[in-house]
Amino acid sequence: MSLLNQIKIVLIETSHTGNIGSAARAMKTMGITQLCLVNPIVKPDSQAISLAAGASDIVKNAQIVTSMEEAIADCQLVIGTSARSRHLQWPHLESFESGDKIVREAQQGHQVALVFGRERVGLTNEELQKCHYHVSIPANPDYSSLNLAMSVQVLCYEIRMAMLRTIDKPNIVSAPIDYPKNDDIERFYQHLEQTLLQTSFINPNHPGQIMGRLRRLFTRAQIEQQELNILRGILTSINKQ
Ligand code: SAH
Repeated sequence: MSLLNQIKIVLIETSHTGNIGSAARAMKTMGITQLCLVNPIVKPDSQAISLAAGASDIVKNAQIVTSMEEAIADCQLVIGTSARSRHLQWPHLESFESGDKIVREAQQGHQVALVFGRERVGLTNEELQKCHYHVSIPANPDYSSLNLAMSVQVLCYEIRMAMLRTIDKPNIVSAPIDYPKNDDIERFYQHLEQTLLQTSFINPNHPGQIMGRLRRLFTRAQIEQQELNILRGILTSINKQ
């Protein structure tokens, strides 16, 4: 069960403390305990504790940070949740696939973040572009937006089911792949953007969607640590020209 400790639930700018408590309860019933709150609009209060019931320890131990970058810095797999599809289509997982993917990565020793948006407006496009995959619960297309804590419940349930499916099965994971942490990848994107500005490939007045599309390309490829080192080396060699 220890692999569930490598999974972090990240809630961005939650407005209702009751949702924080209910999300904590949803997590604990599925055996997931790491909760991270990014700029909660109201800090967890007595309502959060009361709705958490026996999971108040999760609320009390929640990490509170001021940016999504900080929340996901130590993660090798970041999955964003969204009820609706966005302008720039991103690698997508169905909810049952997300459970298997998360458990497989956790088995390789990776830290995983599952990121949830604001009650009213969800996640921004910029936040969604920081994720490797998007997952949506295939709800009623005419009314697909679940309550925040209920979507935490459904996706934590999928993770638990995927984990239970792996029990008693031989571990078929081959040699573990060394994936970079998210903050390393962010530094690469900054280096890439600076370099493309330097070579005038990106026009600072009309940057367009170049960086968004490049992020999607590298996200799809799920670059490994050694590949990232090569890319950084290439950029440095261009910077020296
Ligand atoms: N009106 C918002 C919905 C926000 S619901 C929007 O259109 O995006 C609050 C959060 O619950 C979402 O950001 C997402 O994290 C989660 N959520 C709600 N419904 C979901 C669904 N069908 N699939 C995946 N996540 C969902």
